[in-house]
Amino acid sequence: MEIKTVDLLKNEIPIEEESVVITEDVKAGLVLVDIINGFCTVGAGNLAPREPNRQISEMIDESSRLARVFCDKKLPVLAFLDSHHPDKLEYPYPSHCITGTDESNLVPALRWVEEEPNVTIRRKDCYDGYIGSFQEDGSNVFVDWVKNNQVQLLLVVGVCTDICVLDFVCSTLSAKNRGFLKPLEDVVVYSQGCATFDFPVSMARNTKDISPHPQVINK
Ligand SMILES: [Zn+2]
Repeated sequence: MEIKTVDLLKNEIPIEEESVVITEDVKAGLVLVDIINGFCTVGAGNLAPREPNRQISEMIDESSRLARVFCDKKLPVLAFLDSHHPDKLEYPYPSHCITGTDESNLVPALRWVEEEPNVTIRRKDCYDGYIGSFQEDGSNVFVDWVKNNQVQLLLVVGVCTDICVLDFVCSTLSAKNRGFLKPLEDVVVYSQGCATFDFPVSMARNTKDISPHPQVINK
């Protein structure tokens, strides 16, 4: 029997999924987290899927659909792209998404957003898009994006649910609660638009320098 991570969590902590209707009277912004070849395209790199993966395909379809809706409505979109300098690897992960390689580019289904005037692209070299948005001068691309666009509701999709999406959302909620992100009020994680990578325990046993990360638990 296949068990979803969210069902495992429900056994441990109070967590509820619910439907959200985003109305036009609230200024919404869409954040795309790392929907790039290195995490989503089969065979693209050390952290890319080894074979076609339904969860990742559905995440790409839903994210592309939402990005189209946001672009048609001229609503703000921010895309984070994991991009690392070749000499600065990201512990505890193997080399991935090196700047300048196709691994660190958006998947083919989303490349079109780069040409859209309402889309901001932010390359980041850490899991957390909030931290990864800090610039040399101390300003923060994400914070400025929220303020400049007067974003009240943030819709978050992407990969990987339990690493980059989670870290970004936790930092954003903390910053919002401390009053750094006005007028942001709500942060919504759209579960159908999120996915994680699949690296089963059996595969990790035979591979150096990478921890197991199963997408589903079989019981
Ligand atoms: Zn990375």
